[in-house]
Amino acid sequence: MCGIVGISHHKEASKMAFLGLYALQHRGEEAAGIVSYDGREMHVIKKDGLAVDNFDESNISRLKGHMAIAHTRYSTTGGSHTKNIQPILVNHRKKPIAVAHNGNLINTDELYARLEDEGSIFQTSMDSEIFVHLLAKTPNGDMAQWLTKVFSQVKGAYSVVLLLEECLIGARDPQGFRPLCLGKLGDGYILASESCAFDLMKAEFVREIAPGEIVIIKGNKLESIYLPGSKSAAKAFCVFENVYFARPDSRIFDDNIYQVRKRLGAQLAKEHPAKADFVMGIPDSGNYAALGYAQELNMPFELGIVRNHYIGRTFIQPTQFLREFRVRVKLNPIRDVIKGKKVVIIEDSIVRGTTSRSRIEELREVGAKEIHMRISCPPIKSPCFYGIDFPSSGELIAHNKTVQEIADFIKVDSLGFLSLDGMMSVMKDKSSFCSACFTGKYPTAIPKNTDKLKLES
Ligand code: AMP
Repeated sequence: MCGIVGISHHKEASKMAFLGLYALQHRGEEAAGIVSYDGREMHVIKKDGLAVDNFDESNISRLKGHMAIAHTRYSTTGGSHTKNIQPILVNHRKKPIAVAHNGNLINTDELYARLEDEGSIFQTSMDSEIFVHLLAKTPNGDMAQWLTKVFSQVKGAYSVVLLLEECLIGARDPQGFRPLCLGKLGDGYILASESCAFDLMKAEFVREIAPGEIVIIKGNKLESIYLPGSKSAAKAFCVFENVYFARPDSRIFDDNIYQVRKRLGAQLAKEHPAKADFVMGIPDSGNYAALGYAQELNMPFELGIVRNHYIGRTFIQPTQFLREFRVRVKLNPIRDVIKGKKVVIIEDSIVRGTTSRSRIEELREVGAKEIHMRISCPPIKSPCFYGIDFPSSGELIAHNKTVQEIADFIKVDSLGFLSLDGMMSVMKDKSSFCSACFTGKYPTAIPKNTDKLKLES
């Protein structure tokens, strides 16, 4: 998963892009980059690490220009190498092209082979670079036709921003897997994965870019075109964005994430009520569903675990040992709240089971009498090919174990997962979501080679 930002027509474009990255940091913590354009040349800074560590007043001031795109990376194709930090910036026929992409393509193998046969030399091991080669190879008379020809060749999940020929471009695949929002800042437009980025920039949320839509923004003018057939294409918004990934203060897929998560919690309470002294969430992601659960059953709600905010998303850690260590540092249960109590603990999802097992162990250590765990989505059983970095099926705990076996593994007194129908019942546009990670029913053909590192040499 990644976060992307695009700024047009603003005298401090790179500063705004930085604010956007800051707000979208939760979408990727491996690397961050900004490319700006001053009307003559592009300027770029990209590094491993968090946006806040990579940028300051002095280097942002080197990113001159009135336009910028930016990217925060969480690798879902290609390893965590410096060469794979986005935005990708190239020069072609004396004109610069910059690309930032969120999502995974499903016809990477075919396009890669064809482009290499035609002489393309790839510099990265990311599917995202395909956009650059297609842009360079496709005859570019009229901008709308050029972009239509390019985006018609790629299949799968993409929300992208480009800097191209004095224009800021935003595009979203016809199924709309990943979000992309349009905002207004002064008399310019901005694009961002999630609307929370606009709040930090004090920009106005205008609307979401529609699935299959391409916006071409030049100065303060916006032209919108649609890929052929996209208006009638079946939609596949990623339901895991709503369950876990997106920020609760964002508005994506025509809904507010905080409210969606509370509805998930309320539905969970209807399906799996538990008798206990109080309800609490695993911070931060479980808190919203926990509040919905408690309100639905009229139960007390406690914040019984404190989150250390100086540590990022734990599942991004490369080894199991580091993940477990970081989980412990990150979250600390409050003994005086929990000791001798029967608790319902709500988590947004279980992926490997690492966080949950470790949390439960700590709750026992501080004296919890009974622990009833409730999960605000169904068991995750299948990998994602559209941009969530779920481990292989073998590492997904629910792929191999029944609910009772998972309960035994994480050592809870009872465990309940929200049903698929229950989860979908609280989504606004129920028929428009991809839930393949729960069902194994994929809304596209499955890519031939699903290895994340398949493009590494
Ligand atoms: P667990 O499966 O018990 O280790 O918990 C993992 C926590 O990380 C849950 O809050 C998940 O929602 C969250 N998470 C989100 N995305 C991922 C991912 N791609 N891999 C692993 N965990 C994830």
